[in-house]
Amino acid sequence: MNHNIAIDGPAGAGKSTVAKSIAKELHYIYVDTGAMYRAMALYLLRKGIDPKDSKQIEEACEIVDITLDYVNNEQVVLLNGENVNGLIRTEEVSAMASESSKNGKVRERLVSLQQALAKRTDVVMDGRDIGTVVLPDAFLKIYLTASTAVRAKRRYDELKEKGTDGISLAEIEKDIEARDRQDMTREISPLKQAEDAILVDSSALSAEEVVEKIVSLVKDNYKE
Ligand code: C5P
Repeated sequence: MNHNIAIDGPAGAGKSTVAKSIAKELHYIYVDTGAMYRAMALYLLRKGIDPKDSKQIEEACEIVDITLDYVNNEQVVLLNGENVNGLIRTEEVSAMASESSKNGKVRERLVSLQQALAKRTDVVMDGRDIGTVVLPDAFLKIYLTASTAVRAKRRYDELKEKGTDGISLAEIEKDIEARDRQDMTREISPLKQAEDAILVDSSALSAEEVVEKIVSLVKDNYKE
C-alpha cells in the first residue's frame, strides 16, 4: 500500500512549512511541486516569453529540463542543471507561475515527473492538484487553508524577515487574492478540495499544531 500524503491549498496556507516538518518526522521525501512550476516560470521570464502566448510556452516546455535533487534532505530544483532555489520566490515568479501553470503541456510534463517520484518512495507532496490529479490514490489527503488576511500577513512577515521590503501588506493581499482566483478558476486542474480530503484551517493554529494534527491523522489511518 502506498502511504503518500497529498497536501493542497491556496498560497500562504503554510503547506510547505508543514509538509517539510511532516516529512522529517515520518522520514518521508518532501516534494514541493510549486517549486517546479516556479522553475518553469523563471525560464519563461528569462526568455521574455509572454505568459499569454501558449504556443511559445509549449515550445519552451519541450526543451526545458526541470528536475529535483535532494541535498542534505533539502529539495533542490534544477533548471537545465542550474540550482534555482534562491531565485524562484519573488512576486514576479509567483505571478508568472500562476499564469503559465494554466497551460496543459506544462502540467502534463510536471505531473508525470511528480508521479514518477511518488512511485519510487513515500512522499509528502504539496501543491494545488495533488489529491485531485497527481496522486488520486494518496493514503491521506489534506486541504490546508487559512483566511486571506492571515495568509497575506504570513507572506509579509516572511518577506520582511528576508529583508525584501518595498511591498505593502495590502499589495500582498491583492496578489494572493488574484493568485487564488487564477488557481481556482483555471480550466485544467483547478485548485479545489478533493472529495476525500480532510479540511484543515490553519488561521488560528501554529505550524506545530497543524503538523501534530496531520501526523496523528497519519498514525490513526496507517495500515501496512
Ligand atoms: O505553491 P506555490 O505558491 O509555490 O506555487 C506557485 C504557483 O504554481 C501556484 O500559484 C500555482 O499556480 C502553481 N501550482 C500549480 N499546481 C501545483 C503547484 C503549484 O498549478 N501542484
